[in-house]
Amino acid sequence: MKDYKIETKCVQGGYTPGNGEPRQIPIIQSTTFKYATSEDMGKLFDLEASGYFYSRLQNPTCDTVAAKICELEGGSAAMLLSSGQAASFFSVFNIASAGDHVVSSSALYGGTYNLFAVTMKRMGVEFTFVDPDCSDDELNAAFRPNTKAVFGETIANPALTVLDIERFAKAAHAHGVPLIIDNTFATPVNCRPIEFGADIVTHSTTKYIDGHGVSVGGCIVDSGKFDWMAHAEKFPGLCTPDESYHGITYAEKFGQAGAYITKATAQLMRDFGCTQSPQNAFYLNLGLESLHVRMERHCLNAKKVAEYLENSDKIAWVNSPALPSNKYYPLVQKYMPNGTCGVVSFGVKGGRAAAEKFMKALKLIAIETHVADARSCCLHPANATHRQMNDQELAAAGIPADLIRLSCGLEHYEDLIADIEQALASL
Ligand SMILES: *Cc1c(COP(=O)(O)O)cnc(C)c1O
Repeated sequence: MKDYKIETKCVQGGYTPGNGEPRQIPIIQSTTFKYATSEDMGKLFDLEASGYFYSRLQNPTCDTVAAKICELEGGSAAMLLSSGQAASFFSVFNIASAGDHVVSSSALYGGTYNLFAVTMKRMGVEFTFVDPDCSDDELNAAFRPNTKAVFGETIANPALTVLDIERFAKAAHAHGVPLIIDNTFATPVNCRPIEFGADIVTHSTTKYIDGHGVSVGGCIVDSGKFDWMAHAEKFPGLCTPDESYHGITYAEKFGQAGAYITKATAQLMRDFGCTQSPQNAFYLNLGLESLHVRMERHCLNAKKVAEYLENSDKIAWVNSPALPSNKYYPLVQKYMPNGTCGVVSFGVKGGRAAAEKFMKALKLIAIETHVADARSCCLHPANATHRQMNDQELAAAGIPADLIRLSCGLEHYEDLIADIEQALASL
């Protein structure tokens, strides 16, 4: 599939049936797999042979879908997880332990911010948050001798800041650590962070990849480009024997292309069990088959809605990276020239109270803690997903208290604009 276009990979990537085999990917709804001898199974446990033995670690349906996302992102190995949260956690915890430090963009999904700033801090991993638009000096000053990774979102949810991936990759690599990019909002259809120097890509597949609001899931893709052994002292988990796995040294045994995902599967998935179900992986694949078609429409609708809002005198401000007036437009043209995402944020004149009144008046667009669905929905983050943050933290994350996040679905944009218009008229 390597030489095919992204649209073709969306439809046919990851799975090539043989003669007489199912055209659609089979759902292998089985927890366990049968072997003739204990020796056969022993080889799998020892990672001497590849194969399946228990679906907490690996399942053929999940691997097929992971392989498709891997092809879309241009990676060397990938795994599915039970949620985007699990993907964010595994992506960092696979290479950072108690006593380690991570540099992260401050413009993050609320759940990721909480995971990093509160829960992983309790586990002994410390984060320094930097403004995605900080200077190179500020970025470099955030690193410490125990820094193990840099983390950021291609298009941040809900701040809609666009990360200068190449600049962050350069800083990470100058300090001998990988760049992890959460590519949920752009999707591999619009941006492939590995092409710009990212080493690891994560997804909440719950969003555009599923796209129909049916299954929660996550994915991690490794580029296979980070040379762990060249920085072996920083990554003992990959570069020294794992006594919990018969003394395997992942970076030696599986090389640059396979070490990271094999460790995350053999160790973290074994112990934490944040596994995707085969049924959900099947739904994800259905979403993937139309991802390229849907993204085009999500992006068109968002652009039309953003243009309408920009010209409305009832709107205080509009933020959409798709607008040429947006401060990130130059970065958009570099990293995602074909489109950004379906999400637009804005503030209505009258602040917090007007925001709530506006949302109540919407008829077609529903209030939901969700984005990237076929059905348009909106949310007031300061009152919902980000309510654990104080005003100062909200400002640092680029989320004003009056921000309304609108996720444009696949309806006709004229109907969306008409709904917004009547809700604004009610103010
Ligand atoms: C939703 C989201 C997550 C978390 O994903 P879940 O599937 O809800 O666990 C992580 N990152 C971003 C950018 C998201 O939008």
